[in-house]
Amino acid sequence: MGLIVQKYGGTSVADVERIRIVARRVAKTFDQGNDVVVILSAMAGTTDNLIGLAREVTDSPEKRELDVLLATGEQTTVALLSMTLKAMNYPAVSLLGFQAEIVTDPNFGYARIVKIGANRVRELIDKRNIVVIAGFQGWDAEGNITTLGRGGSDTSAVAIAHALKADVCEIYTDVDGIYTADPNICKKARKLDKISFDEMLEMSSLGAKVLQIRSVEFAKKYNVPVHVRSSFYEKEGTMVVNEDSSMESPVVSGVTCNKDEARITLKKVPDQPGISAKLFSPIAEAGIHVDMIIQNTRSGGQTDLTFTVPKTDFKAALEISSKVAQEINAEEVLSAENIAKISVTGVGMKSHSGVAAKMFAALADENINIRLISTSEIRISCVIEEKYTELAVRVLHSAFELDKK
Ligand code: ADP
Ligand code: ASP
Ligand code: MG
Repeated sequence: MGLIVQKYGGTSVADVERIRIVARRVAKTFDQGNDVVVILSAMAGTTDNLIGLAREVTDSPEKRELDVLLATGEQTTVALLSMTLKAMNYPAVSLLGFQAEIVTDPNFGYARIVKIGANRVRELIDKRNIVVIAGFQGWDAEGNITTLGRGGSDTSAVAIAHALKADVCEIYTDVDGIYTADPNICKKARKLDKISFDEMLEMSSLGAKVLQIRSVEFAKKYNVPVHVRSSFYEKEGTMVVNEDSSMESPVVSGVTCNKDEARITLKKVPDQPGISAKLFSPIAEAGIHVDMIIQNTRSGGQTDLTFTVPKTDFKAALEISSKVAQEINAEEVLSAENIAKISVTGVGMKSHSGVAAKMFAALADENINIRLISTSEIRISCVIEEKYTELAVRVLHSAFELDKK
């Protein structure tokens, strides 16, 4: 018996029938004598539909108003689950982000949680209520509704679990745990019993959307036990834990892909001090997050500058780049949206060499051209043509013997 936070993602609450299944699961946990706090996402597809509606109104919806709109998705599901539980004679109460006192900074669309009051949540739990809280949303110091970025309900759940000192934060989703690669792409992917915070951080930052990266950062910082599991089956999922010495650390533990970035190249840029600053300062000022940057030297005092940005910021980044290219006399600006970043991760890489060579050879064997490369202590990423993404995931999964136990 204890306090359990359960988060259910979009597919788990996709329709009324699934909400009933969730209600039964919540009720069962409650009947076992636990206190239960539930965090919900919007129904699958709802957030995308709401963004589509906003775009029908204007190309660049005002960010504050967009958050007011997007927050409605989660308002619907918390009300429906609470109604369902009440109809089953369980004491359930739905709360929106502000009612749970989830305070964020005012960065609309990608707000950070700065504080969770949760006084009302605690009072309700003390009176043996099941509290159902809208994920993905909060409010800023001025009382504006904010949202936490795509996949943000994971972060709501971990933050609330920490604020309430819950015994565990269970993330219920449409796969039964964290795998060595996305099981929807690589049939040979293997489920992991546990994964370290650091490895999960890398995987999330490289595109494994099974957990939003901020939820992993939060869980690591406050040591919140996170259990990723299926909302359809009872079996155990994957625990995200602190790295411990008993954990085997294979050289490569996962393969990840990300199709959310686009590439921009400025060709024949004068090779002089201050040129990079001229380009990347206005991009940073526009709030655009640059991921990879590569500069290669040509003869004749010129270089090519290539970098990647999220597809959602591609248009804005391209406009800025074209303007700067004229100012600095670059020859031309090239760009591509049909790219993918493919990465291998593993804490064991720290003490092994040859991982990059093996990765490049495996891609070369399939005639997959590498456009950009970046590395860290526990990761190697390559940018390739988007159409090879799935093939590359499978090939690397086999090359690093992740298919075998
Ligand atoms: P939810 O709606 O429950 O938040 P998401 O769609 O955000 O679910 O995340 C679950 C999805 O993450 C899975 O369906 C799977 O395709 C994807 N995924 C990517 N990489 C992995 C991985 N390594 N292990 C498990 N799932 C992964
Ligand atoms: N509904 C939001 C999204 O689709 C938040 C979430 O599901 O976690 O991104
Ligand atoms: Mg998600």
